Amino acid sequence: MARRGIRGHGLVGPDKPELPARPGTFRRIVSIFKPYRGQVGLVVLLILVISGLGLINPLLIKVVFSNVILADGPADERMTLLIWVTLAMIASPIVGGLLGLWQTYTNNIVGQSVMQDLRNALYAHLQNMPLKFFTSTRTGEIQSRLSNDVEGVQDVLTNTASSILSNITVVISTVIAMFILSPELTFLSLGILPFFMLLSRKVGRIRREVSGKRQESLADLTAIMQETLSVSGILLSKAFGRQSYEIERFRKENRKLSQLEVRRTMVGRGFFALVQIFFSITPAFVYLVAGWLLLRGRFEGGASDLAGTIVAFTTLQSRLFFPMGQLLNVQVEIQSGLALFDRIFEYLDLERDIVDKDGAIELQPEEVRGEVHLRDVWFQYERPITTEGEEQRLWTIGGVDFTATPGELVALVGPSGAGKTTLTYLIPRLYDVIRGSIEIDGIDVRDIRLESLGEIIGMVTQETYLFNQTIRNNLKYGNPDANDEQLEAAARAAYIYDRIMEMPDGFDTVVGERGYKLSGGEKQRLAIARVILKDPQVLILDEATSALDTISERLVQRALTPLMQGRTTIAIAHRLSTILAADKILYVEKGRIIERGSHVELLERDGAYAALYHEQFSDGKVESRCEDGLVLASGEVVAEEAV
Ligand code: ATP
Repeated sequence: MARRGIRGHGLVGPDKPELPARPGTFRRIVSIFKPYRGQVGLVVLLILVISGLGLINPLLIKVVFSNVILADGPADERMTLLIWVTLAMIASPIVGGLLGLWQTYTNNIVGQSVMQDLRNALYAHLQNMPLKFFTSTRTGEIQSRLSNDVEGVQDVLTNTASSILSNITVVISTVIAMFILSPELTFLSLGILPFFMLLSRKVGRIRREVSGKRQESLADLTAIMQETLSVSGILLSKAFGRQSYEIERFRKENRKLSQLEVRRTMVGRGFFALVQIFFSITPAFVYLVAGWLLLRGRFEGGASDLAGTIVAFTTLQSRLFFPMGQLLNVQVEIQSGLALFDRIFEYLDLERDIVDKDGAIELQPEEVRGEVHLRDVWFQYERPITTEGEEQRLWTIGGVDFTATPGELVALVGPSGAGKTTLTYLIPRLYDVIRGSIEIDGIDVRDIRLESLGEIIGMVTQETYLFNQTIRNNLKYGNPDANDEQLEAAARAAYIYDRIMEMPDGFDTVVGERGYKLSGGEKQRLAIARVILKDPQVLILDEATSALDTISERLVQRALTPLMQGRTTIAIAHRLSTILAADKILYVEKGRIIERGSHVELLERDGAYAALYHEQFSDGKVESRCEDGLVLASGEVVAEEAV
């Protein structure tokens, strides 16, 4: 299947909408309705009955004119007939109206259920998309597909399908009735229709194109709002004095959206106006031709019959206007709807390359030891560049080998951009290795069920993410079953308990958007408490103490020490003070481990690690600066001149 480019992420082809309907789109839409076959059947039945009922009155009008008003029979008989006809004329719209309500209700239930299914499917699919999709797609674009696009198909789902059917039945039954009344007048009234059908195809295509562009523009606008009205976005724009620039950017996109919206509406309305004019002027022709037929003596019945026929005919004809107009417009509506469905299906079709294998292993957390083994691991983010038929790979990680056993602390150090974070991302399969393998307790991580893998690994990432909920809920994300004592113990262990208690609502304090109401260090300590509650077998700490001052760092360090016991810990650190006691220190540079050993061994080796150490600790004496002077590696604080 051809695939359209997706704005903002480089996974697939160019960013150019492909307009012709994909052959599968329509069939897929039909298949979404499958679970609701029963209700759809009921709607079809109701539509047939309602359109049948709609025919009764125009035909009864002919009876009123030809058999009552203009007839010559006995007055009593004509009166009785008139009463019966009138009763039937009152009853049929009432019954039709009630059935119409029932049909609309059932219709809406089906439409809304289908939309719910679509949203659920899309959300579940996105939840399982690999991290690389999110790092290369704008969040606003994703949100827009989930909300705006699904919202946009509501009309197609709740109205269009049933209105097509109801319009078709009305049109067919009316045309048959018209034909029975007068074939000549029927041909006269409908002769021009094929022209409208051709026109509607063309208009539909234009409308689909405009609709696609409108949704893209809406997604752009959503992305701008999402990026610039988030706390980080607003902080950036204020700090750089770029508000006017952002306002102008928003205005420009907003203007584009409005213009597209006007174009979309006008394309549809213009066409509808043409249809309206056509249907308004045809009765005039009917009177002209009917009169001509009568005056030329070509009408077989008498004048009374003709009068009844003309009134019934024009009533039927006016009954045609709406359904016919809508049917001609349906092309246009459907094409717009298809553009949205294409966008939804495009996301549903995105491949998930990191998925569970058939028969993937479900780990029993209590049986997992947590030994992590990286065997000759190679990885890169970007696709290989092909030059002169040769594949050029720019490896982010190249040939990394190491083992981390339970109870062991393995530290990754090295310059920024060396690939340390990337290495840790490969263990929970946020990305898959390209060559080599990663094993936990001897099982390749690709053979383990993803959820099961997630359960045994705990991460404290560089950037702490908190939901805008209470501290309690944020902590419980690590363990939904945790009770209050466990929460308190975890908070104490992460040295955040006292700070939580100082807050107005304690554990029930809401942390604000992404935790902005907390300081960086507080957020980090909450993240540590969250992982303490999770109690994973493998612990990954990416600069877990980077946002802490020296004192808090030491406190958290103290909290982490018991946490590391009995589990495998892989810690990334720029500040070597946090990993001096590591069992193994791996010095990573350009994706490769160039030195490994304990702190003492690496110092003796006097290589890259030793250089980094001396740089940070001023020949091993100074750990860091603080208000009172310098903190020595021994923990002692001395005046600066003393060193
Ligand atoms: P730091 O210590 O600064 O956090 P790091 O050693 O953890 O650095 P990584 O974050 O693993 O380094 O990045 C390794 C390399 O991969 C860098 O050159 C970075 O630019 C690149 N990189 C990271 N994430 C992506 C991504 N999603 N797509 C493409 N390249 C990436």
